Amino acid sequence: MTGVVPEARARLPSIDRLLAAPEALALIERHGRTAVVEAVRAAVDEARARLAAGAGAGAADAGSGLLERAAAIIEARLRPSLRPVFNLTGTVLHTNLGRALLPQPAIEAAAGAMGRPVNLEYDIDGAGRGERDSHVEAWLARLTGAEAAVAVNNNAAAVYLVLNTLARRREVVVSRGELVEIGGSFRIPDIMAAAGCRLVEVGTTNRTHARDVEGAIGKSTAAIMKVHASNYAITGFTAAVPEAELAALAHRHGLPLVNDLGCGMLVDLEDYGLPHEPTAREAIAAGADLVTFSGDKLLGGPQCGLIVGRADLVARIRRNPMKRALRLDKIRLAALEAVLRLYADPERLPSTLPTLGFLTRPRAELRALAERVAPPLAAALAGRAEVRVVDCDSQIGSGALPVATLPSAGLALTPAGKRRSGAADALARALRALPVPVVGHIRDGAVILDLRCLDRADEFVAQLDRLRFAGNAS
Ligand SMILES: *Cc1c(COP(=O)(O)O)cnc(C)c1O
Repeated sequence: MTGVVPEARARLPSIDRLLAAPEALALIERHGRTAVVEAVRAAVDEARARLAAGAGAGAADAGSGLLERAAAIIEARLRPSLRPVFNLTGTVLHTNLGRALLPQPAIEAAAGAMGRPVNLEYDIDGAGRGERDSHVEAWLARLTGAEAAVAVNNNAAAVYLVLNTLARRREVVVSRGELVEIGGSFRIPDIMAAAGCRLVEVGTTNRTHARDVEGAIGKSTAAIMKVHASNYAITGFTAAVPEAELAALAHRHGLPLVNDLGCGMLVDLEDYGLPHEPTAREAIAAGADLVTFSGDKLLGGPQCGLIVGRADLVARIRRNPMKRALRLDKIRLAALEAVLRLYADPERLPSTLPTLGFLTRPRAELRALAERVAPPLAAALAGRAEVRVVDCDSQIGSGALPVATLPSAGLALTPAGKRRSGAADALARALRALPVPVVGHIRDGAVILDLRCLDRADEFVAQLDRLRFAGNAS
């Protein structure tokens, strides 16, 4: 290699010699020859580059260090990239942390479908179950009052499919106050364009009236769309056309009303002491012809998008070739069916559905949990940070009830000593470096761990002795 002093390169043992060492044979026994050869090559390449850079090492320690380094390379390579974490962010449905956690029956149903053939599109008893959506359609119809239902990859796909089916090369009327962006990659104007529709914006940001909508309807209009302002609130001097009035208006002109609910809960959250979030049933009752919502937001199921509404429109959606591209796989269908089955017993949902369980956890319970977890955490952080039990406010997340918060409790970790900038960041980094990374948030120079979603407290505590800080040993 260029730049390597020949004599230094000669000091590196050959790959063959390294592979013949007993430690290498043990590695091969465990990981297979291919992986070990690759890792040993990578380790030798690194050492060679170091020698070239002038950081000369003695021949003997270069040789023994190489196999250790190879073992570390293999381990790093085999470590799963997608790993469990503790979501102590205070956001229950955290999109970046995978949103809803599935209930045990759904996990079992999904696992069952993974390893065995299933009647995905196979009519076993002649009861008309040859269509994959049939496994969830009756449940969705019962739970929303809709005639028919389709399940696809996510709500973005649901919105796309609805628009592309009903309004390709035509116009869709939407209020300016509802041109939502969800997390950057989903924006109503962009999805409209991708679906081949022309967006006709009406009204103003804060006020849209029936006459605005009516005035925009023309020969090319294919649908009127309502989008739930899921991650923001327009307050003050505002006006929106009530859903029932919008539906009546649409129907007077022979147009369908499409309602993108975002969350689209299947039960009334007020029954569980939570703030109201529009339900899919309410949207159907108000006259929407098609309603779209996510499966992994408040519904508490796997990632999917659900379209419920008129049977004739749903039939058209099924015939759209893009349905095939966006359809749900058997694993998630199995999970979704199992989750929907839990809704047959709504009173028990807070204990059967993890999402609702987290949302309804009372502050007193979270305070007690914080009191229990604080001492071992304080011991693990001794001298580094002060640990206090604090009240905080959780958010639902994923665009549900953007302004509502849930009274919660957790721990505030304040770095010890003088207020160094970056001390809280370092603390947060150390927590994320644990075997099961702990993800909190930083506020006012402290790391806040909201305990609303802590469901394996013993596992959380048991790993605390692995806390390590960069720089000096602890
Ligand atoms: C969340 C949301 C979407 C996107 O749903 P995904 O399931 O994330 O694709 C679309 N519209 C609204 C109103 C939403 O709240």
